[in-house]
Amino acid sequence: MFAQRLANVSVSATLKVAAEAERLRREGYNVVDFSAGEPDFPTPEHVKAAGKAAIDANFTRYTAASGIPELRQAICSRYTQDYGVEITAPEVLITVGGKQALFNAALALFDPGDEVITHAPYWPTIPEQVKLMGAVPVIVPTRSSDGFKVHADVVIAAISPRTKAIILNSPGNPTGALIDEADVAAIADAAAERGIWVIVDLCYERLIYEPVPHNLPRILFDRHRDRTVIAGSASKAYAMTGWRCGWTIAPKELTAAFNVIQGQSTSNITSITQKAALAAVTGSQDAVQAMLDEYRVRRDNIHGWLTANPGIQCVKPKGAFYLFPDISRLLSVDGRSTSADFAQALLEKEHVVVTPGEAFDAPGYLRISYATSMEQLREGATRILRFAESLQPARATASH
Ligand code: PMP
Repeated sequence: MFAQRLANVSVSATLKVAAEAERLRREGYNVVDFSAGEPDFPTPEHVKAAGKAAIDANFTRYTAASGIPELRQAICSRYTQDYGVEITAPEVLITVGGKQALFNAALALFDPGDEVITHAPYWPTIPEQVKLMGAVPVIVPTRSSDGFKVHADVVIAAISPRTKAIILNSPGNPTGALIDEADVAAIADAAAERGIWVIVDLCYERLIYEPVPHNLPRILFDRHRDRTVIAGSASKAYAMTGWRCGWTIAPKELTAAFNVIQGQSTSNITSITQKAALAAVTGSQDAVQAMLDEYRVRRDNIHGWLTANPGIQCVKPKGAFYLFPDISRLLSVDGRSTSADFAQALLEKEHVVVTPGEAFDAPGYLRISYATSMEQLREGATRILRFAESLQPARATASH
């Protein structure tokens, strides 16, 4: 009945958990929700003010499909300031979040049968968009034992004559891991030799806790500028998820193709949002720093609390706002229970919502978002530890 292209595309696995959590909430339970993929902070005041001013000034009409020139220019300046790279406005296009940035790239670049390499655990939208184009995701696994490191040699080994692009995400959702500059450089060199596109999802670029070298734009531009796409977003950095603003930075010709796609589909993103995003990108970045500082304390606390149980093994994430613990030791030794079962039982018994690793192609793990208050983190950690404790006698019995 529906178009063939939808045949292989999955519905978000997180929706099921969210629906169940909502049911419990409606029944009056005190639910602790660690499933949020968005900042809990309000949008900074000066950004909200710019949005309100835009409405009052009747800045409420269509704009250019690619975005207002001031905002495209402001994105250039932001990246020059942050990374020392020179970008011109014709290389920038304003999108409905990082999601449309990636979608435009997929639509403009992937043909049926093309292979597109990415790394797991992944944000599900990445391979699902590939599938939506009739292309084939080729997944390179990473392991928690070395901090979910993306090894360039493994990525390069996955290249075939059909490879059209490599999609990297750093900091990564759900792991919070960063890809090392050296690995990105090696991947870019290999891609340049073979004419393969490199698409890098930098939506969490402003959420990196310790100052480590992570100048991926510079590395990619130096080696492979004519086939690099950067997907960026105001969502996480400026607590603007609902405003819907992202961008691509790509070669002019590809940006023109994105403009055709947007011109025939969504047209411009909301005019009001563009003014707010302009204030976010050009104004004081203090709010970004303040949120980052708060996330860091939360990360350290929740990491410390949960890893008090030796069955919960977790590398400390370097970025984003997710903890991605390996709970395989807590799953029953007969192998019958999965992280999805664990998440379901945790929800039913302790009313704590987490996203099971299955959603990210990583069974045996849980994703815990710490974009929530310290009180909720403390309460949720207490409940998770109590739940984990309750599992252990059964484990001990079974292993004797
Ligand atoms: N990339 C990653 C890795 C994400 O986690 C998200 C949001 N969950 C996005 C891109 C897109 O977010 P937005 O469309 O709000 O910019």
